[in-house]
Amino acid sequence: MSISFSLAGKAALVTGANTGIGQAIAVALAQAGADVALAGRSEPTETLAAIAATGRTAISIKADLSLIDPVEGVVAQAGEALGGVDILVNNAGIIRRADLLEFSEEDWDAVIDTNLKTLFFLSQAAARGMVARGGGKIINIASLLTFQGGIRVPSYAAAKSGVGGVTKAMANELAPHGVQVNAIAPGYIATNNTAALQADETRNRQILERIPAGRWGASEDIAGAAVFLASPASNYVTGHVLAVDGGWLAR
Ligand code: NAP
Repeated sequence: MSISFSLAGKAALVTGANTGIGQAIAVALAQAGADVALAGRSEPTETLAAIAATGRTAISIKADLSLIDPVEGVVAQAGEALGGVDILVNNAGIIRRADLLEFSEEDWDAVIDTNLKTLFFLSQAAARGMVARGGGKIINIASLLTFQGGIRVPSYAAAKSGVGGVTKAMANELAPHGVQVNAIAPGYIATNNTAALQADETRNRQILERIPAGRWGASEDIAGAAVFLASPASNYVTGHVLAVDGGWLAR
């Protein structure tokens, strides 16, 4: 048996791919041979151009993923354009920062809805097609806060811990159908999501001191793990949360 990391002939759906980690993953999947549907609320102009440069097809699907109403339509549109969805990457996510004693219901609901509720129902919608076709890959973007509590981000810690749980729950029920479900837990990656931390001199120093690799991650650092988990090379890997964190959790 030869090991394949190729995604040639596969169709991927990536959420929140106009920027940051989602953009890097979408481009890497295309470089590995996949056609890619990009779902989100902002036009992914740069990502569409970068994928076109690889020679693969990319389409954009407008959707506000703080709600689950659009999920069936997103999967249907991606499937119609690309001939089914073989790979789903649930990347779209938000973070709200506030002191625990002041944390609002609005900041709780917004983060849980986008980061956890939509992730589950989008996976469910995509998995129906994957089960019907006899296989697929679901990759959820988790966090170090799948394992830790964080500071001033309780709804994010709850949502990302939940992502670890539903990754395993989905993996168990979908494994007999040839669908692998895994998650990637990025460490501290320099994106919009962490702009406030990067700008805070004290937190920035504390974070850098604790990362064995001694640097913030780049979005591209996450892409290799995504290609592996999307490819046949990972066909016996399921229900796993893969940390890509410069050694943070090892410390
Ligand atoms: P980012 O640059 O802020 O990207 C977040 C993406 O999610 C953007 O494309 C954003 O679209 C999209 N999104 C947010 N709310 C949405 C909604 N309601 N509907 C549709 N799309 C929506 O941050 P990032 O760091 O790349 O984050 C990507 C994922 O990695 C998130 O799940 C995040 O929690 C996770 N993560 C990041 C880090 C890190 O250190 N950066 C660490 C661990 C996990 P807009 O541009 O339109 O807002």
